[in-house]
Amino acid sequence: MSKKYEVVIVGAGISGAALAYELARYTDIKSICILEKYEGVGTLNTLGKANSQTIHFGDIETNYTLAKASITKQTAKMVEKYCLQYNLENEVIFSHQKMALGVGDKEVEFMLERYEEFKELFPNLQVWDKEHLKTIEPRLVFDENGDERPETIVGVGSQGEWTTVDYKKLADHMIENAKKQDDTTVDLFLNSQVTDIEKLENGFVIKTKDKTIEADFVVVNAGAHSLYLAHQMGYGHEYSCLPVAGSFYMTNQKILNGKVYMVQNPKLPFAALHGDPDILENGLTRFGPTALVLPKLERFKSGTYKDFWTTLRFDKKIVKIFIDLLKDSDIRNYIFRNFLFEIPFINKKLFVRDAKKIIPALRVDEIEYAQGFGGVRPQVLNKKEEKLMLGEASINTGEGIVFNMTPSPGATSCLGNAKRDVINVTKYLNKNFDFKKFEDELVEENIPQSAIDANEQKQYVSKIREEIKAHEEEYYQNINDGQELPSYWNKPYSPWRNKRDHWAF
Ligand SMILES: Cc1cc2nc3c(=O)[nH]c(=O)nc-3n(C[C@H](O)[C@H](O)[C@H](O)COP(=O)(O)OP(=O)(O)OC[C@H]3O[C@@H](n4cnc5c(N)ncnc54)[C@H](O)[C@@H]3O)c2cc1C
Repeated sequence: MSKKYEVVIVGAGISGAALAYELARYTDIKSICILEKYEGVGTLNTLGKANSQTIHFGDIETNYTLAKASITKQTAKMVEKYCLQYNLENEVIFSHQKMALGVGDKEVEFMLERYEEFKELFPNLQVWDKEHLKTIEPRLVFDENGDERPETIVGVGSQGEWTTVDYKKLADHMIENAKKQDDTTVDLFLNSQVTDIEKLENGFVIKTKDKTIEADFVVVNAGAHSLYLAHQMGYGHEYSCLPVAGSFYMTNQKILNGKVYMVQNPKLPFAALHGDPDILENGLTRFGPTALVLPKLERFKSGTYKDFWTTLRFDKKIVKIFIDLLKDSDIRNYIFRNFLFEIPFINKKLFVRDAKKIIPALRVDEIEYAQGFGGVRPQVLNKKEEKLMLGEASINTGEGIVFNMTPSPGATSCLGNAKRDVINVTKYLNKNFDFKKFEDELVEENIPQSAIDANEQKQYVSKIREEIKAHEEEYYQNINDGQELPSYWNKPYSPWRNKRDHWAF
């Protein structure tokens, strides 16, 4: 006879683990089962080698609006609060300095305006000019000859915050913790790939190769395979999955002290290149991720090519979405460049050219393609609206089964997404969610007071603006002289001074 649980979770990545923890700790649900395809918890995108290990609060992610950042900050804080509550400092959660770097007058002005807009939500944000950057992150400032890079730069960031998480360790901790909660049974079955889910009149039957399990409610947190299983059951046919692989490059020594993000082109759906100290590699700097569409749903695992085609559901609408994306020259160049980043022999040189925007003196012999690092972001295509969806997607059927797809920053938002599902599950099963306990333990009440000297910050901002004004005057002088520099605004970083066609492909 098959065993019956109140809730079955498919997938033991960070999303499945966070949901198991919240159901066990904050609800009166008595039996939970987690079914995981592979031999361990978090072996796909949740693995520290697969993702950038960042907690995305929205302060240095320049594509986030203030409204989006205020939501992201709340869910990101849940991860922080979980880790601090269980004393996981320097084992699961780590602190580095972090910043978004503006390069060239246009980006610098953008960063300064963004700082004004965001400083209330992030009271610890600071503005760092070139002089200050020399002391905290010197490799951002000097070129190959040891000279200062010529263009204006600014770092807007903070120090002393929790920035970095080993999400695999966090997932392990959450599942073990879920098992320890009183009055709830939590069973984890590894090597248990769900092959079929069947809807009954009351509940579901879930099949793996050697098990048949019943459930009142099912949450599928299987990454790209969530949509695969949804389609198999006849749900979500208006969506397709585009697996966008991300790879990394590793330096052979520590060249950054903290996280350095760049100003992101809002049209490009994936995080711009950034440099991060890797917590699994003793702080060596990891650059990336790149973005390349791969015809498979899982990285570094065999198979899943067929699953890709099944989940893509290729048709005229997909062609139209692709054509629309490729019409945009920024997106076209980005896709082409990222394709070249995967080709041996030329990839390193090309990548270094891009990464020089962060580290002007970066040399090809300082980095290597990080073999075995990287993952797949299951980006969702909405066929009804004929567009690529940028964030996460969740199909709540209203019939006792939910399917979640979680591209970046899905690890950061694991506890926030789980809360949404806990509300759905408890409502559907007529169970209780201890909202107060959840808020007390995981939601940050008091915004920390700023320790930053506001006057000093104002001085930095005006000094940098004066520098920009001087550059503008020089630029218009050049136009008047008949020596227009057309690439100035579009490519406002150092290479234009010497090689105007540096970025052309
Ligand atoms: C290059 C890259 C960089 C990223 N950087 C960040 C970052 O810095 N910060 C951040 O917050 N996010 C980041 N992300 C996103 C983040 O890694 C994901 O959002 C997160 O790992 C998703 O977790 P998940 O549990 O939903 O999916 P996954 O981690 O993919 O887990 C899904 C699980 O389901 C299992 N599964 C699949 N099919 C079945 C089945 N049929 N039966 C049973 N089990 C099944 C899989 O084996 C797997 O264990 C990054 C992603 C990539 C690719």
